[in-house]
Amino acid sequence: MPTEEDDTNADENTLPPTEAFRLLSDGTRLQTLQGLVELTDAKGYGSEPVSFSALHEQVDTRDSAHFNYHLQELRDQFVEGTEDGYRPRYPARKVVRAIRAGTFTERAALTDEPIDGTCPQCGDADLRASYADERLAISCAACETALTANDFPPGGFEERSLADVLHAFDRLVRHRVSFAADGVCPECTATMDGHVTTDIPPEWGYEALPAFDCTRCDFSVLPSFGMLLLDHPDVVSFHRNRGEDLRKPPFWELSLCVSDRYTTIESREPWRVTVRVPGGNEELVATIEGADVVAVRTE
Ligand SMILES: [Zn+2]
Ligand SMILES: [Zn+2]
Repeated sequence: MPTEEDDTNADENTLPPTEAFRLLSDGTRLQTLQGLVELTDAKGYGSEPVSFSALHEQVDTRDSAHFNYHLQELRDQFVEGTEDGYRPRYPARKVVRAIRAGTFTERAALTDEPIDGTCPQCGDADLRASYADERLAISCAACETALTANDFPPGGFEERSLADVLHAFDRLVRHRVSFAADGVCPECTATMDGHVTTDIPPEWGYEALPAFDCTRCDFSVLPSFGMLLLDHPDVVSFHRNRGEDLRKPPFWELSLCVSDRYTTIESREPWRVTVRVPGGNEELVATIEGADVVAVRTE
């Protein structure tokens, strides 16, 4: 159960949805959350608690006892009550943002949440995570690059901090690509059909990508060409010899995985791609035919 000290997203993630919706199924309560977030954010309040009277004034209800009843119902899960007044908890802010956005989707929704890490495209530390429609996306706010977007089940948010969610997401996507590249559907274990596609959303900024489609359940995996190399022993040792552990940073911080900086399309019929990764005086050269890594060498 959440405790008084849990004012991070852990609250939100451990709150059973039925309980959350029950608590919020009242107009006065939603108004109270909106009023509380507005007052807290308003100039002059900062992170100071909002007094009962100020909050009551903000919420359009004359009956003080009625208002107080609903406010108390929101306490613990959505509202932190202190001697000096009230503060919105993280879930309250998320609810209010969802109301402002006009949508109320997943309880685990995230919108441009700042996260640790460095953008491999521009080098800035201004990465954001968003979660909607059961997809987790990482982007860079500095260069406005969409680094990755992949399916991630809402249950993955339960009892995890955002940092732990991101770690799980990194592992999940890497393993999903490994399964797919090995011809096994990570969802249903049927055979995955590997090929190259140019049917790619333009905002992703890729000309072509390897694609793996499940022959049974329709699940698809679209990694970058570079991501196909992550598990290759020669690729791992090439990086290890240069003091780089490819497993350590999340894949969205690796240029190899989230850009086609090192990728050259050599032929389209049939598809043949070369990935060249510079490393000191040497260069790692990988040849990919279709969606299969056929050769890796060092030049
Ligand atoms: Zn960037
Ligand atoms: Zn499948």
